[in-house]
Amino acid sequence: MMIILIFSSLSFLLGLILSYSDYIFPKTIDPIINKINDILPQSQCAQCGYPGCYPYAKAIINENEKINKCIPGGSDLIFKISKLLNLDKSLEDINVQNKSILYTTVKIDENNCVGCSKCAIFCPVDAIIGAPNFMHTVVQKFCTGCNICVSHCPTNCIKIIEE
Ligand code: SF4
Ligand code: SF4
Repeated sequence: MMIILIFSSLSFLLGLILSYSDYIFPKTIDPIINKINDILPQSQCAQCGYPGCYPYAKAIINENEKINKCIPGGSDLIFKISKLLNLDKSLEDINVQNKSILYTTVKIDENNCVGCSKCAIFCPVDAIIGAPNFMHTVVQKFCTGCNICVSHCPTNCIKIIEE
């Protein structure tokens, strides 16, 4: 009983200390991180090497990460970020890291689509339309080329194509 009481008092005390330190030293989030995140494609495809768009935006500001790692965003995104950060664009920056999958999008071979909807469920930007048990198709205008859908198609009918 005594031990429970001691532990409860300690946790209460620790909680108080943490709340007080939060009040004294509030955590400030650099608004520029949110601005970068807003212009990232929100594919959450992790091709930049980070688990998603927001962690990449954070790394650009907090860890001086390069701005040329977002494959779906391509060179347009590099221009936008460099404008936002007032950076001089070097040629190295403008070359997106993995050139072999730069400017790609996907296309569904509609004859082999079984309409399982798996691709549409996983598309982070809702670029795939179709109805269950009917053919699906990719709306190119919205596709960011993240390629997430490719591995989710059970019939292998989604192909990566160059734009
Ligand atoms: S259609 Fe596929 S490649 Fe295009 S954004 Fe959606 S998941 Fe990514
Ligand atoms: S995952 Fe493949 S088979 Fe299923 S709906 Fe999408 S394109 Fe068609």
